[in-house]
Amino acid sequence: MNNIFVYIELENGAVADVSLELLTKGRELADELGVKLEAVVLGHGVAGIEKELAKYGADTVWVADDEIFAPFRTLPHTAVLCGLIRQEKPQIALFGATPVGRDFAPRVSSALHSGLTADCTQLVIGDHTDPKTKTDYKNLLYQIRPAFGGNIIATIVNPDHRPQMATVREGVMRKEYAAKAGAGEVKPIDWRPMVQDTDLAVKIIDRQIEERKINIKGAGVIVAGGYGMGSKENFKLVHELAEVLGAEVGASRAAVDAGFAEHARQVGQTGVTVRPKLYIACGISGQIQHTAGMDQSSMIISINTDAEAPICKIADFAITGDVNEVIPKMIKYYKQNSK
Ligand code: FAD
Repeated sequence: MNNIFVYIELENGAVADVSLELLTKGRELADELGVKLEAVVLGHGVAGIEKELAKYGADTVWVADDEIFAPFRTLPHTAVLCGLIRQEKPQIALFGATPVGRDFAPRVSSALHSGLTADCTQLVIGDHTDPKTKTDYKNLLYQIRPAFGGNIIATIVNPDHRPQMATVREGVMRKEYAAKAGAGEVKPIDWRPMVQDTDLAVKIIDRQIEERKINIKGAGVIVAGGYGMGSKENFKLVHELAEVLGAEVGASRAAVDAGFAEHARQVGQTGVTVRPKLYIACGISGQIQHTAGMDQSSMIISINTDAEAPICKIADFAITGDVNEVIPKMIKYYKQNSK
């Protein structure tokens, strides 16, 4: 059986979290399939990187180390990854759904005619029977993601082409050291015959990196407000509760669209995926596009006037009430009872 590839994204030599999350998931899939987990690193000055990747379960670390690979340029990365995939024939190849992955993975899949499912929220191994030909397929990658505006959760399989390719957004999968570290065996990629002069046509003259001012991704506690907060003025209550709790502020898309909060705070399918210890949803109905970005939170508290709102079904504690009454009480009692 062929192995699983995870493309390792680098920024100034540091491995992106999404790549470690994909190694964690890749380890699980590789164990189920009884195959090896192989990390692919294209960068410059990456000696020693295998130590970190092995902790997340990488058995093999394919490396192309040269200045043409950093900073990222689409064409040389595409050429080398396509060359390595043709050489090694992995059954699965996983990428982060980052600007780099979104630029690069479709080019690789298009060059290899392999197909690609973008923005998967789950990856599972399973069997499939073709409804027309009745052919049985064993151990395919179920590439699971919301589709049709989030109205259905689609399971996509690719029985005919290899590798089965998927991108996954940052924060969707857990990042954990493997129970047993991988061997992290370094294998140099013989990349020179794979790269043509035309792959180097684009020269990077300058790069501007903007720091994210708002970053709710890693927050331990999030107080999120929805359209039910009523106005931008009233949304301040969400900020007040967050400040008291030492939490970050999140928002639903309806709240962002209404101008109550900045887009960087949007949680959900087209926003950020979060998994805090505590998520307090204030005046949020809990449509699937929102819950897709927060339903892995350890504890969820909802505050909603409608006891039947979908958010109440996934909440550990559902407070039926008006945010204008409940939030000030929470602030008051929290202050009274904490030192
Ligand atoms: P509403 O659905 O209007 O709900 C407001 C809630 O507040 C209601 O449950 C109401 O009972 C309650 N309420 C009202 N007044 C009060 C009060 N005074 N006190 C307490 N409760 C009150 N949404 C996202 O959030 N994130 C996404 O990333 C996202 N991506 C999307 C992608 C696509 C392709 C599409 C089609 C939609 C997407 N949406 C997303 C939108 C999503 O479908 C919902 O429209 C949105 O989540 C609703 O936001 P809301 O719950 O704040 O507003």
